[in-house]
Amino acid sequence: MALIVKKFGGSSVATPEKIMAVAKRVLQEKNPDDKIVVVVSAMGDTTDELVGLAAAITDKTSGREMDMLLATGEQVSIALLAMAFAELGQPAVSMTGFQAGIATNETFNKAKITGITPDKVWQELNAGKIVVIAGFQGLTETGEITTLGRGGSDTTAVAIAAGLKADHCEIYTDVDGIYSSDPRVVATARRMKEITYNEMLEMARLGAGVMHPRSVELGKHYDMPIHVRSTFTCDSGTFIREEYTMEEKEFVIRGVTHDANVAKIAVLGVPDRPGMAYKIFSALAEANIDVDMIVQSVRALDKHIIDVVFTISQGDVPQAGSILEKLNAEMNFSGLTIEEQVAKVSVIGAGMLGNPGIAAATFGALADAGINIEVISTSEISISCLVAADKAKEAVNAIHNRFFPV
Ligand code: ADP
Ligand code: ASP
Ligand code: MG
Repeated sequence: MALIVKKFGGSSVATPEKIMAVAKRVLQEKNPDDKIVVVVSAMGDTTDELVGLAAAITDKTSGREMDMLLATGEQVSIALLAMAFAELGQPAVSMTGFQAGIATNETFNKAKITGITPDKVWQELNAGKIVVIAGFQGLTETGEITTLGRGGSDTTAVAIAAGLKADHCEIYTDVDGIYSSDPRVVATARRMKEITYNEMLEMARLGAGVMHPRSVELGKHYDMPIHVRSTFTCDSGTFIREEYTMEEKEFVIRGVTHDANVAKIAVLGVPDRPGMAYKIFSALAEANIDVDMIVQSVRALDKHIIDVVFTISQGDVPQAGSILEKLNAEMNFSGLTIEEQVAKVSVIGAGMLGNPGIAAATFGALADAGINIEVISTSEISISCLVAADKAKEAVNAIHNRFFPV
């Protein structure tokens, strides 16, 4: 007997025919006494369409109402998939995030799962049913519906797998595994048989949209093996796990990513006194705004002022803008600019730790392609460069060719 959580993304359940095909596939692979939980996303582009509906009404959406709206997408697909199983003679039951016992904090639009009480899921599994759970949503302690951030159904799946102590979690999608770069951007990207949690987490954080970053974080925390594979073929895909088991460890670089959801903020002419950076970044942190690349530079000609440049997600720009305007009234910066025509390209690999020259090779690839670097940041296992948005794909290809020559 195995207990397996299988997650199917939006493109896998985009039409009634595809939903039927998913149900058939799950049943084909199921051994008689397996216990199966299926997590699904909203059908096709439903979530984008819901975002569009809200935008047609207002550009000042409240987080609460937005989550109330977005959570409906997944409720449609769980009901349809449960019906598909029933049509095939398999007892199944659908559950919203709340019914499955998924509790989150109160941060609308990007809530974090704080706990799982899957009693009802167990009851139904023990009664021999397949349980179909809505991805992407949860409920706060005070009974508010929340969503986990775009792509968050992956996180529901891994969290449920951890909560049920499943044998493993399978993420079915429209690609047949994790590649060294988005295969839609780099034609020569290579599929990997396995990748570590740490490297996948860094790739996901730095823009590899194939996995929601928080899902990999949970996988690592609970040591839950994740198998990313195609909905449309039966081949094995990529295993995300703690350590490599095969020769793949020889690769110094695992992936090259890009993230276009970036805005660059420059706060110019900040007085060079203790506590100034604290003031700016604590105000942003209080509003739950994640700040990414940060550069503080001293002016050669005026030692009493500094410039601070950093990046945030584009979705946080309106809120960050008003926070910084307020600070400006108090601190009197000499300039404040927000630029959205930028993108972050990154190279990731745990092997870069003991390998000098990776940064130089990355910058060299960009220089040879004539692409200017605006900001650089590094972690132990990644190097990121901010470039003009319209150069991002060219930059990814240039860097990928340097590390994975064809
Ligand atoms: P789903 O709806 O199944 O969750 P997503 O669109 O969220 O699917 O994720 C799958 C997509 O992720 C692929 O179609 C691919 O274009 C993109 N992607 C980005 N980076 C990578 C990568 N490194 N490896 C594989 N796919 C990637
Ligand atoms: N439906 C949500 C989205 O489109 C969640 C998901 O697909 O993972 O972002
Ligand atoms: Mg996804």
